[in-house]
Amino acid sequence: MESHDLALWTGFTGFTGWNGNQYPVYPVNPVKILDFSNDLGKLLPIQCLRDSINIISITYTITMPDTIIKNARIFYQGQIHEAELAIEDGKVAEIAKIIPLNDFDLVIDADNMLVLPGIIDVHVHFREPGMSHKEDWYSGSCSAAAGGVTTVIDHPNTIPPTLDEGTFKAKQELASSRSIIDFGINAGVKDNLDELASLWKAGCSAFGEIFLGESTGSMTVERDHMTAALQITRDLDALACIHAEDQEMLESYGKLTKGDMEPESYSLSRPNLSEAVAVANTIEDVMAFNAKAHLCHISTREAVGIIRGAKHGDYGDSGGTVTAEAAPHHLFLSNKDYDRLGTLGKMNPPLRKRRSLQYLWNGLNDGTIDIVASDHAPHTEAEKQTDIWSAPAGVPGVETMLPLMLLAVRRNLIPLPRMVEVMCTNPAMIFGLTNHKKGAIWEGFDADLVLVDTANISEVDADKLHSKAGWSPYEGMEAIFPAMTISRGEVIWDEGIHAKKGRGKFLPGAGYEEKTQEEPAAMCSIDEK
Ligand SMILES: [Zn+2]
Repeated sequence: MESHDLALWTGFTGFTGWNGNQYPVYPVNPVKILDFSNDLGKLLPIQCLRDSINIISITYTITMPDTIIKNARIFYQGQIHEAELAIEDGKVAEIAKIIPLNDFDLVIDADNMLVLPGIIDVHVHFREPGMSHKEDWYSGSCSAAAGGVTTVIDHPNTIPPTLDEGTFKAKQELASSRSIIDFGINAGVKDNLDELASLWKAGCSAFGEIFLGESTGSMTVERDHMTAALQITRDLDALACIHAEDQEMLESYGKLTKGDMEPESYSLSRPNLSEAVAVANTIEDVMAFNAKAHLCHISTREAVGIIRGAKHGDYGDSGGTVTAEAAPHHLFLSNKDYDRLGTLGKMNPPLRKRRSLQYLWNGLNDGTIDIVASDHAPHTEAEKQTDIWSAPAGVPGVETMLPLMLLAVRRNLIPLPRMVEVMCTNPAMIFGLTNHKKGAIWEGFDADLVLVDTANISEVDADKLHSKAGWSPYEGMEAIFPAMTISRGEVIWDEGIHAKKGRGKFLPGAGYEEKTQEEPAAMCSIDEK
């Protein structure tokens, strides 16, 4: 906590809440600190004040008035309930038909809006460290918050890549100082097999993307290397996330399309078969070694078929588990969109033929695909505006993912309960975030919530988005943007960002072992100053 944004108050009797109401304050302490940097006007009772001129190391507990959301349609236990929801200390305290108010409650009138669990996006590239002109943890997390995403997991192909404890800790500190939403961090796999155990203890969420085919960051590994990595992650009981494109096939098909400058030739250079081969190889290894793998951004009907078969025992039942993910750009765009997007439509795996979309939606609805994640991979428009072979691969998507999916629900492409499963429940379970009370609206869970007016359809307009990319592949497409995003009980998005840089919390993975730190500053009272 920095001292410069704190002001000292005496004789203080109340404050104005974010909704404009006046709230009285209990005299918990003769001296109080009001944090002006936060629109919510939070009351921060001092527990340790060394010197009023030189305030250092203030340890405090945030006491917020309880919040009650009224007139809401709450997605609870798989159904929508007309109910009220109370938040205490950032957690969901109660869901009931009517919750009695007391004097200190903040009231949010949801005006009959839908209240969903905050979205968990397990696949973002927030680009920091090393590429903060494309995105940084603040812009990326603001973009997420405005799109209803309250938790992200960042992937390791930054500069430097997250391949050892040092780079992991550095990214954790960077993100902790800038992110406005909670986050986990994945560790990379390259020539660092000796480092995986210490990365697991440092608190990585999972390993990967492990790149079987070339993509941003030059982190491609050979299949036998992945096999060795899978045996280590199996021993750690960790999840391996796989970017499944077969490098040999990419190289041979790349030669066939060389010199063809039509953007669509990029899709031909990375054919459906290259994904199918890499997916089949991965599943074979996962089953052979009883490992756990998550197949990132599945894009083809061939891969969907192989994964569906694996989930029904085609590869035996050794105890290995495979989960799969689809990205919005493969669910909503096809190679027809090259006409509109040109090189902006370049990503890995590439845009597929239109008929693939139906296979992906079927896979999503029948349980073959477990998760929708954005693979938010921003580049600036200037970087993208070159020829198709030189342009960097990747599109921004964290802010538009839920809005597009909500419209898909409205258009009957997916039922709402399944949408919540693939964007909240499953990501939390597969990536160990239920340990952190994420992924559902449930008493005792974090009050990570999204309020949505499902009738409010608008068009995607990149000028209104928060990513540094400054453009969107979905420009002009219809979507339903959230009205409000709440993270651990704090309103962080309400037609504007209302959150302090660095309020986001690091969510360590299951292997985290806390290192003994130097003695923390002891809590002291005012009399001790
Ligand atoms: Zn990838």
